[in-house]
Amino acid sequence: MTWSFRLARILGTDIKVHFTFILLLVFLFVSTGRTQGAETAWWVTGFFLALFFCVLLHEFGHILMARRFGIRTPDVILLPIGGVARLERIPEEPRQELLIAVAGPAVTLAIAAILWGWLRLVGQSAELLPTDAFAGTFAVDLLRVNVLLFLFNLLPAFPLDGGRVLRSLLATRMSYVRATRIAASGGQMLAMVLGVAGLFYNPLWLFIALFVYFGAGQEAAQAEARAAGRGIIVDQMMVTKFETLPVHATLRDAVNRLLDGEQREFPVVDNAGRVEGILTRDHLIRGLAERGPESAVADAMAKSVPVLELGLPFETALERLRMSGLPALPVGGHDQHIVGLLTLDNITDLILVRRAVAR
Ligand SMILES: [Zn+2]
Repeated sequence: MTWSFRLARILGTDIKVHFTFILLLVFLFVSTGRTQGAETAWWVTGFFLALFFCVLLHEFGHILMARRFGIRTPDVILLPIGGVARLERIPEEPRQELLIAVAGPAVTLAIAAILWGWLRLVGQSAELLPTDAFAGTFAVDLLRVNVLLFLFNLLPAFPLDGGRVLRSLLATRMSYVRATRIAASGGQMLAMVLGVAGLFYNPLWLFIALFVYFGAGQEAAQAEARAAGRGIIVDQMMVTKFETLPVHATLRDAVNRLLDGEQREFPVVDNAGRVEGILTRDHLIRGLAERGPESAVADAMAKSVPVLELGLPFETALERLRMSGLPALPVGGHDQHIVGLLTLDNITDLILVRRAVAR
């Protein structure tokens, strides 16, 4: 996911923040500042940051449990609806997925229990569910929001933790793809209800609904892609008829190649045929706008692109393609000499073919 930047690196995991998260923070600060004064604005912002910390702890519940099963997490992205820890791979065993999914809400529950215990200790009683928006006491409100977070996360719909729990339970009885599809359509249904309710009650819900809706769709598509490629290696999937651009070519040359055929992503190679980078259509358009047609492709292309090795299992290749954020990756033989190109279009075709054959 792009549109995010790195905040820190903890235990080998990048902590990233999505720009909409910052947007929400600014929105909260400005809107409360305008209606309730600067002091309340700071209070709300501070509260939100404390909540952000609780969400981070929740994510580390997932991360540390995943690590127990040998699954690394390259990054965790903080979105307005919470965090998303990106697992390097999805656990094969439903039981592992179940434990990883449950670990996050368990942490949230623990935080709530600690806050509750502390409030009892200092002699403050707390209603667990909010009767109005804010009680005005930091610890009480933090406890309430954590309880809400816990309950919301357990809704059995993708991409919430409850959706993962549901999928892992369903996956013991049916195919993984079917289980994912059920959990994902649950997520999209929930999103629609939430979105419509948001129109009437709270615009923030609409915001959450959008994230749930797209998150659910993405999850289903990924599961299907993985299942379609099971047992295949990258050699069988890659495009072998493609054009490359020499590193000294201009963007004008690239435009001619783009308009000549179907290819949209061009590997950029040096004189010896080794991969230097990849020029996607987006890079080309951006380069044209910023530098003009006579500038070199080398300045516009994506550099330090991972090169997939021949013989790589398709699922691993797909994972790397997804991590790169690019629509295509080069496949290299020995000496990084390019022999193929793995593109998202390929993968879409594969899924369509598999689906047609399965019918
Ligand atoms: Zn979670």
